[in-house]
Formats: sequence, structure tokens, C-alpha cells
Amino acid sequence: MDHFQIIGGAMNAEHVPLPDIARAVGTPVYVYSRATLSRHAQVFRQALAALPKVHIAFAVKSNPNLAVLRLLAKEGYGADVVSEGEMNRALAAGMAPGDVVFSGVGKTARELAAALKAGIGQFNLESEEEGVELAQIAASMGVVATCTLRVNPDVDAGTHAKISTGKAENKFGVAYDVAGAIYTRLSALPGLNLRGLAVHIGSQITDLEPSRQAFVKMGALMAGLREQGQRVTHMDLGGGLGVPYKAGDMLPTPADYGAMVAEVAKDWDATVMFEPGRVITGNAGVLVTQVVRVKQGSARPWVVVDAAMNDLARPAMYDAWHDFAAVQPTGDMIEANIVGPICESSDTFAMARTIDAVQAGDLAVFRTAGAYGATMANTYNSRALVPEVMVDGDKWAIVANRIEPAAILAAEQVPDWLD
Ligand SMILES: *Cc1c(COP(=O)(O)O)cnc(C)c1O
Repeated sequence: MDHFQIIGGAMNAEHVPLPDIARAVGTPVYVYSRATLSRHAQVFRQALAALPKVHIAFAVKSNPNLAVLRLLAKEGYGADVVSEGEMNRALAAGMAPGDVVFSGVGKTARELAAALKAGIGQFNLESEEEGVELAQIAASMGVVATCTLRVNPDVDAGTHAKISTGKAENKFGVAYDVAGAIYTRLSALPGLNLRGLAVHIGSQITDLEPSRQAFVKMGALMAGLREQGQRVTHMDLGGGLGVPYKAGDMLPTPADYGAMVAEVAKDWDATVMFEPGRVITGNAGVLVTQVVRVKQGSARPWVVVDAAMNDLARPAMYDAWHDFAAVQPTGDMIEANIVGPICESSDTFAMARTIDAVQAGDLAVFRTAGAYGATMANTYNSRALVPEVMVDGDKWAIVANRIEPAAILAAEQVPDWLD
């Protein structure tokens, strides 16, 4: 069950009617449920209870809102960050620097130095070149950088091509067959405390077998390194567990995932690290929108909503599905196309979908919008940056303001020489 349910004829987030929020804040607006976020954080942790030493770093990129990060910090989560901006958010939310993992193929020298200065707990190196550079920067600062080496296991996660990260043709990590040699060379560098391996094969993973294969390969690599006398105390298994986007979808649960990991890792004698994103935040948020008008079409009506691809990019970017539901359903259904107002044909949320009958002025939601939603929003077509709200029981608060087009316009200027 989630916390977005019809109560007294209208969809509520926990105990707050969505029409109340829409009236006060306007639409489109993201609404997150605190209870859902906390429950997901706890369920994921419990699923790993069989492992003796665990570290969980929430993948900030899935939902970097400060209030979301604060809540997860209170649940004992660290953070997996991929930029200085995300690192500063995690620290501002109260996460301990030592609980922050810094991932990403393009960490700049400036970012590496800032992260060392902040005392970040672990760098996941994505190349030998990055390791050499980090070692130099750390040595010049008189500190030691704790890190792991991210390996590309060349496993197909079976997910959308744009969210696959663990195949040989993807840019992430070092190739499996040279990883041992690179590990050995990097471990000799002063300035680095290379303590383990990392892997992350993709996102929205709906079948555990590719992950299992990747983890088995990583275990073998770790064993081989130890045989050569290398120290490997940490294994970071990344994130990627999928969530149901369609009502009725059956996916592996965190418990299934935890059981699979416990089986693969039973002889590892290592701290096992995780970087879940979507599985924590995905189903904890909806995007509330208002129907602008219903336009006649040749085959079926076009439901034009006031949310667009700039607010929720996943359908345009990944052909992703988000369930659509009326906030005050009448029980009638229609078949329609659902589109936003942006002047791009990719600004399409659904084609030929059977949905609640809606009319101009009605409120509706796109479900499962808590991950890779607001964080990917932009201002294309000079639209506002979408606001975010968090609900807790019968309380709610704006946790990110709408940034109006006028504020963005005010940050631009015309140079003198144009006049
Ligand atoms: C995106 C990402 C994650 C989180 O992925 P989810 O599918 O949201 O769990 C974790 N680790 C790394 C390195 C990532 O790039």
C-alpha cells in the first residue's frame, strides 16, 4: 500500500487532500509522503539484516530535495553523490561526511579537492587516471583519500538502454579484465587508501539475475586480489533496484534482493555497501497537475495537462510509464492521449491510455514520480521550475519553492554593445 489514497472522494497524500495543496501552491507540484519515504528506508535496511556489516548511501541524484535528505539522514542513511553540488546538499542535510560516497566518471580536480577538504568517506574511482589525479591532490593536501575502484562487469541489466551502466560499451568503471591490474597499481600510490571494489549495473532493474551475475563476478575479483595479497575490505554493490510503475506490476522486493545478496556475499567477510535511489523515493511522490483542456483528436481525445516534459522528463527521455489518475474520480473511464503544453512531440505522457474521465479544470496525478522527477526539471519554454511539497500525517509544507520565469529572466542581461 502507499500513502496516496482516495479518502472522501478525493486523493489524499497521507491525510492531506491534494486539492488543498493544489489550491494553495498551484500546479504542477510534486507531493512527497514522509511516511512512505521512512517506510521504504526501513524496509530496505531490514532486507539487508542478514549481512553483518552494511553501509547504505542514498543515491542523491534520484531526489536531492533537502527535506528528503534530512529525513533519510535521520533514518541513518548516508549519501551517494555525483557532484560537488550534491555533496553540499548531503552535508547541509546533516549527513556525516564519513557516510558520503562520491561517484561519477567526471569528478573534476576542484571537486576532488573540495570532497577531500570536507572529509568525504569514500571516492568510487571510475578510472586509473582519476585515481592517479586523486592521489596527487590528496598528497599535496597532506591527506589520504579512501576509495574503491568501480568495475564494469560487462553484464546486461536488461533495463532501458539509457539507464544501463554495466555493459562494456557504457562509460562507467574500468573493464573487468584489467581491473585487477589497475587495483594493484593504484593501491601502491601514496595518497590513496584503496579499500575495495564498486559496481552499479543500471537502474530500474526488474530481474535480479543480472545483478547476481555481476556480484558473483565481483566476489571472484575480490578473492583473486586477496590471493595476491591485496587488501579488500569493502564491496559497494551500487543501487538500481526497480519499482512498480504500473499498478499490478510484480517486481523483486527489497527482501528478495537482500536474500540474493546475502547468498552471494556469504563468504565475503567485507563491509557491503549499497546506493539505493529509486526504490526509496520512487513511489513516495506524485506529480499533481491540472487539466488545461480536453482537445478533440482524430482517433481519441488529447488530455492537455499543465505539467510537461520539463517538469517530469522520464516519459520523453526513457519512454517511461507513469500511471495517471484523477484526484476526484467519477468512476467513468475514457481512452485518451495525455500531453503537456510544450512545443515538442516528445512532450507526451501517454498514448491511447485508458484513464479516469477528466475535464478541463480537473486535478490529476502522475504516480511514482518521487525519483528522477523534480531533480530533472528544467525551465524549457520559459516555464517555472516546479515546486515540491512534503506531507506528514495531516501536516504539509513547501520544501522547494516554485521558481517563476520572472526570476530566471532577472538573471539574464543584454550586453551594452548590443544596444
Ligand atoms: C544512479 C546511481 C545509483 C542509484 O540508482 P537507482 O536506480 O536510483 O537505485 C546508485 N549508484 C550510482 C553510481 C548511480 O549512478
